[in-house]
Amino acid sequence: MAVLLLAEINDGVLAMDATAKTVTAAQKLGEVTLLCAGAKVADAAAEAAGIAGVAKVLVAEDALYGHRLAEPVSSLLAKLGADYDHIVAPATTDAKNILPRVAALLDVMILSDVTGVVDGDTFERPIYAGNAIQTVKSLDPKKVITFRTSTFDAAGTGGSAPVESVESAEDPALSEWVEDKVATSDRPELTSAGVVVSGGRGVGSQEDFALIEKLADKLGAAVGASRAAVDSGFAPNDWQVGQTGKVVAPELYVAVGISGAIQHLAGMKDSKVIVAINKDEEAPIFQVADFGLVADLFEAVPELIEKL
Ligand SMILES: Cc1cc2nc3c(=O)[nH]c(=O)nc-3n(C[C@H](O)[C@H](O)[C@H](O)COP(=O)(O)OP(=O)(O)OC[C@H]3O[C@@H](n4cnc5c(N)ncnc54)[C@H](O)[C@@H]3O)c2cc1C
Repeated sequence: MAVLLLAEINDGVLAMDATAKTVTAAQKLGEVTLLCAGAKVADAAAEAAGIAGVAKVLVAEDALYGHRLAEPVSSLLAKLGADYDHIVAPATTDAKNILPRVAALLDVMILSDVTGVVDGDTFERPIYAGNAIQTVKSLDPKKVITFRTSTFDAAGTGGSAPVESVESAEDPALSEWVEDKVATSDRPELTSAGVVVSGGRGVGSQEDFALIEKLADKLGAAVGASRAAVDSGFAPNDWQVGQTGKVVAPELYVAVGISGAIQHLAGMKDSKVIVAINKDEEAPIFQVADFGLVADLFEAVPELIEKL
């Protein structure tokens, strides 16, 4: 069976981690062709061609795809999809925007946030904020799937797939990009970081959130936050971990001043090792933590930073 995979590309740069993890998932379904769509994607395509196990890279270079608007990109995927049994992508914001539209254009269902491939028709995905795993069988002639990247290992490099240009599809001309506001950071990207340090409402203020950032920098970690911390203005929205934020599964997740609400756990409970620092020994976070410290974070975190 043939699989068409929409590579994750932001501003011409290939998101290697998300794309390579999705290649691993897609390989279970058949021969994988990557699609690189964007305004300038030659470099991203060359890099994508090096992912081990990729059979071919298609390049759709057109200003039309510059900001990956759902309308033109889904029109392209629906057209190219005629030759494929599976059309897949990592479950990023971009793909969550585009792929359901592709599915609707093809008159098939969307399989979102898939975490396991049983066979070409049967898939596993988490439901109820990760509290149940649902095995679904799709009878559709084509499957449109987003994969939850945190459950798959990244495919290696060293491949040399051929790169081929494809023609743009018709532009539905229904939407237009106006402006991007990009948050820049030298820290590792939250969803691919090996270590994540997150702060919650217990941190108390935006000023004190610097303590969480200091601990993160000491560990070379990405910074995360609970929704309560984001809603209170302690941390920016794109740091949010959970059901309505990002899903992470790092080697080490440190939760500081976070109670461990079910919606937060949905985004981090697959982390390899979970450490919790909370002054309330009854906090639910301790039920999933491998190592827990019942302490005031304003004493424990500076001490931890000092000892590191
Ligand atoms: C539909 C829906 C979607 C949601 N999506 C998300 C999501 O994606 N992500 C998310 O995080 N939440 C989400 N939530 C919100 C979630 O239900 C919780 O409200 C939120 O996670 C609580 O954040 P918190 O743990 O930081 O705050 P709290 O629950 O208020 O916990 C703060 C913790 O800090 C501890 N603490 C206080 N002071 C100190 C101190 N000095 N030292 C040590 N510990 C201290 C307290 O003991 C407490 O356990 C969602 C809710 C809904 C309804």
